[in-house]
Amino acid sequence: MAFAADSSLSVKPLMPSYPRLFQPLQVGPLTLRNRIVMGSMHTRLETVADASARAAAFYAERARGGAALIITGGYSPDAAGRLEADAGALDHPDKLAGHRAVTDAVHAAGSLICLQILHAGRYARHDGLVGASDIPAPINRRKPHALSTAEVEQTIERYAECAALARAAGYDGVEIMGSEGYLISQFTALRTNNRSDRYGGSLENRLRFPLEVVRATRARVGPDCLILFRISALDLVEGGANAEETLQLARALEAAGVDLLDTGIGWHEARVPTIAYMVPRAAWRDATARIKSAVAIPVMATNRINTPELAEELLRQGVADLVSLARPFLADAAFALKAEQGRAGEINTCIACNQACLDFLFRDKVASCLVNPRACQESLYPAGKAQRAKRIAVVGAGAAGLSCAITAFERGHAVTLYEAQDDIGGQLNLAKEVPGKEFAETLRYFRARLAQSSVLLKLGHRASADQLAGGGYDAVVLACGVAARLPDIPGIGHPKVLRYDEVLAGAKVPGERVAIIGAGGIGFDVAEYLSEPAGGGTIAAFLASWGVDPRGMGAGGLAAPMQEKSPRSIVMLQRKSTPPGKTLGASTGWAIRMELARRGIAVLSGVSYQRIDDAGLHILREGKSELLAVDHVVICAGQDPVRALHAELAARGIAAALIGGAERAEEIDARRAMEDGMKLAYSF
Ligand code: NAP
Ligand code: SF4
Repeated sequence: MAFAADSSLSVKPLMPSYPRLFQPLQVGPLTLRNRIVMGSMHTRLETVADASARAAAFYAERARGGAALIITGGYSPDAAGRLEADAGALDHPDKLAGHRAVTDAVHAAGSLICLQILHAGRYARHDGLVGASDIPAPINRRKPHALSTAEVEQTIERYAECAALARAAGYDGVEIMGSEGYLISQFTALRTNNRSDRYGGSLENRLRFPLEVVRATRARVGPDCLILFRISALDLVEGGANAEETLQLARALEAAGVDLLDTGIGWHEARVPTIAYMVPRAAWRDATARIKSAVAIPVMATNRINTPELAEELLRQGVADLVSLARPFLADAAFALKAEQGRAGEINTCIACNQACLDFLFRDKVASCLVNPRACQESLYPAGKAQRAKRIAVVGAGAAGLSCAITAFERGHAVTLYEAQDDIGGQLNLAKEVPGKEFAETLRYFRARLAQSSVLLKLGHRASADQLAGGGYDAVVLACGVAARLPDIPGIGHPKVLRYDEVLAGAKVPGERVAIIGAGGIGFDVAEYLSEPAGGGTIAAFLASWGVDPRGMGAGGLAAPMQEKSPRSIVMLQRKSTPPGKTLGASTGWAIRMELARRGIAVLSGVSYQRIDDAGLHILREGKSELLAVDHVVICAGQDPVRALHAELAARGIAAALIGGAERAEEIDARRAMEDGMKLAYSF
């Protein structure tokens, strides 16, 4: 079926305009052209060889994409405050040239840019770390040196010096990072501050450090420089600030000369997810609204705001004056431009998976984006056409095939995309069913892109080797994906046995007692899907289950978590003895495990499977036979590649490129599939 014949793929703009979002705003000495700010995000671009060229290309693309103001990733004001040994610090004039390349590129593209000053304090991952006190962070094995009073005063001066250097490098201002548990938070919270000098003890003393940083910075840079402060709207840790203390800080910051308050949520050591996919969109609106009600300067909302509709709504409701989008600008550099032009349906939406941004950073890699693998590689994969247009056949319209087909089209090639099913998406259609996972947005994006392209989409069409061989293609790409693996267990054909794809597609509904074979990524996905309590997914349910007081009254804004009740009794199993869930992403795995534990989901390791019969699943564990009397056994035991077509083409002497799960099924996920597709398309 050719694309034009498929009316289900027609795309309508989601909303024609966003009047509040595109109203200019005066912030301190400067006017922002709209209310969309690209928020600060670590990228690790500063660690690569051609750092300033890569960063300039990265930020300039976002400036061309309509962000009114860009805030860089954090730069430390001194060596002690660097996040890691090779992280950026702006502490000497000899570093200005690299920054100048970035500020010039952003200004040429029409945006303003601020440098974020971030002193990591006890979160620093190098041995020279310092803190308000010598209390180590639970997420860092190193013990900080407690700054002496004289060292605190020097550090304040270094913030001011860093801001002056930023101005010399062409930045329009600075954002002082005062949230997420970094040094400034470590001074303000009792949890991390046991000092006995004028920077510790009473609230007034604990707030002295950030206020002196702001005053020293303002005195140094004068009134023409924008000063933003990222305030911790909610600490989400025991011993953190309560709402009243936070508001007191907000008012004092305004009086000290801050032009705009950006709102941060949760320290990095908090045991509450703050930006991952399980956090409902705009979950932190109340904390932001509280700050807005306390000050007259503009206040910026952050975290889990990923559509222009939601951003407009937050402005309409008076929650904030402007929005900060960080990951959404990784996912789509032209977020703001598309929204302004009424093309919101074409926005490649950040799905809050963290798989290529935060999880890459945790593995000391440069950040990128699952749905936009070009992110942070703009100069390596420049936009533009290939030297020679080719005819390309792509078989399979799952994540890998879609990414390859659309990128190849953008590069000027004539692309035919074959899909055996009646719709695009492949495994994305299953992943979108997992609570909180927003792959439906990714599919909407690809539908929009296909609708505007001249890619010939043949749905419901299983491409044959003969057809591909006779099609006159310059290149054939096989993105045929994977098939669920059925392990060789006696009774695997029993009616109690269901495959994960049948379950997630809703084709089969398991009973109340379920065993899940396989505790990898998909096993956890299925457990989340089957255990979601009734009424889940709302902001209120999320805050209650994670123990967050929406009024922020308790220390850190915490309350007792509410017990969740799974509608099913579920046990997950794996043969390995290693801790289950090891393969889950570093930034989300802990939250998934906590959530499932709260719902009473058991995970058994070191099992062997004996048989499945009318009684249930028989296993051997610690040398003993056990019967799990379950209604259904859901198989999540990995996948095998689908490659029959590859062999058939090879028999005809036609070389075809394999990508995604068809190339390597082990550890295949949407991230690798999309990256494979993009990279191959650039090779044509
Ligand atoms: P996976 O993570 O490799 O897990 C496969 C599971 O099946 C393992 O628990 C394995 O444990 C078990 N298994 C393998 N062969 C088996 C056999 N013959 N008999 C019984 N059990 C068997 O693969 P996946 O769950 O299919 O996920 C695919 C990829 O997507 C992975 O890379 C995964 O990380 C990723 N993914 C990630 C997420 C996430 O991060 N949230 C979500 C979904 C998918 P034993 O061998 O110990 O039994
Ligand atoms: Fe958003 Fe995921 Fe991309 Fe990170 S990797 S920017 S969370 S879509």
